Amino acid sequence: ARVDNPYVGATPYINPDWSAKAKAEPGGSAIADQPSFVWMDRIAAISGTANGRGLRAHLDTALTQGATLFQVVIYDLPGRDCSALASNGELKAEELGRYKAEYIDPIAAILADPKYAALRITALIEPDSLPNMVTNAGSAAGATEACRHVKELGSYEKGVGYALNKLGDIPNVYNYIDAGHHGWLGWDTNFDPAVDQFKKAATTEGATVDDVHGFIVNTANYNAVKEPHFKVTDSVNGTTVRQSKWVDWNYYVDELSFAQALRDRLVSRGGFNSDLGMLIDTARNGWGGTARPTGPGPLTSVDAYVNGSRVDRRIHTGNWCNQQGAGVGERPQTAPEPGIDAYVWAKPPGESDGNSQPIDNDEGKGFDRMCDPTYGGNDRNGNNPTGAMANAPLAGHWFSAQFQMLLANAYPPL
Ligand code: BGC
Repeated sequence: ARVDNPYVGATPYINPDWSAKAKAEPGGSAIADQPSFVWMDRIAAISGTANGRGLRAHLDTALTQGATLFQVVIYDLPGRDCSALASNGELKAEELGRYKAEYIDPIAAILADPKYAALRITALIEPDSLPNMVTNAGSAAGATEACRHVKELGSYEKGVGYALNKLGDIPNVYNYIDAGHHGWLGWDTNFDPAVDQFKKAATTEGATVDDVHGFIVNTANYNAVKEPHFKVTDSVNGTTVRQSKWVDWNYYVDELSFAQALRDRLVSRGGFNSDLGMLIDTARNGWGGTARPTGPGPLTSVDAYVNGSRVDRRIHTGNWCNQQGAGVGERPQTAPEPGIDAYVWAKPPGESDGNSQPIDNDEGKGFDRMCDPTYGGNDRNGNNPTGAMANAPLAGHWFSAQFQMLLANAYPPL
């Protein structure tokens, strides 16, 4: 039987492939022994690539380490990354059959091996996919043709439902569905529709809400866990901070408040189980260093107050690629807050979000200008500059300069 919180009392697996890269960097030993998720980001990753050992080899190494918890990201949906290009995948939107037969089934077969029965396995299900169906597949300004196409085919819903069902059949697997972040789904126009979308996927292709152990927010993103110097309920001279440019009418200003509210709504509206647990990816949302505000901003206007207060130093919450100024966030931690199963490192620090210039590759990855520091942005980031670092390699590839910056700006400090 599954436990309420798989992280409690568990010894998580340290991915030696990531660790080695971290250790090879000056100062990297400070974090090289932290646990992080293993990404199954293509069919070839199951048996292993030049970039890392295969799934079985990871699990065997976990046993050798004496680990009792293994964290894996399921990330290969048909038509993957439909609102962006940097992590476009290998499967076309039409290739649901291949997703099932060549990706999910082999993964499920390996995870179900009795050899691994004593490991608790947390599976992060398909980052960005269902949130894209909520906000980027309709007629909104930021919507894309690729997302509309995926929605028409139902590729994400069916793929996620299939994955939940198959992996949910394995008694030691704990499924956590990706739920975007507050700067994506925190408006009331997106919040309930997201809950409904999650419910729909979780009751498709044989899945039920019992296949869902919880949800994760902020996967591979940069939103702060807590904004310590201002709250969404603050106002300045009678004007709510929700009216500031940064908050832009959002109901949340950080991930903890968003995750806790979403959890409640998933239960009350979505009919998900009342013991649902949330995860927050804190790999790169630390925002320390000299630019970190030490107190609230001036009470001269809502914008001055919010901009002076916020620890998240991005130009816009829609910016997601290799963000300048970011730091490593909270170290992985079990049950840090009510409703939160753990702070985890889903995105391994030092792995790029996307290339800043076009790069030929055989991984299906495109060039997304949100990764280009000279680009003026699109509808999804309010047409702001991207805040991305220059000279970035392909998504998932090692980005030494980023790793160094993340160390330097760690918060809590290392
Ligand atoms: C990339 C994957 C990579 C993952 C973790 C994603 O953005 O598309 O290839 O495994 O990040 O770094």
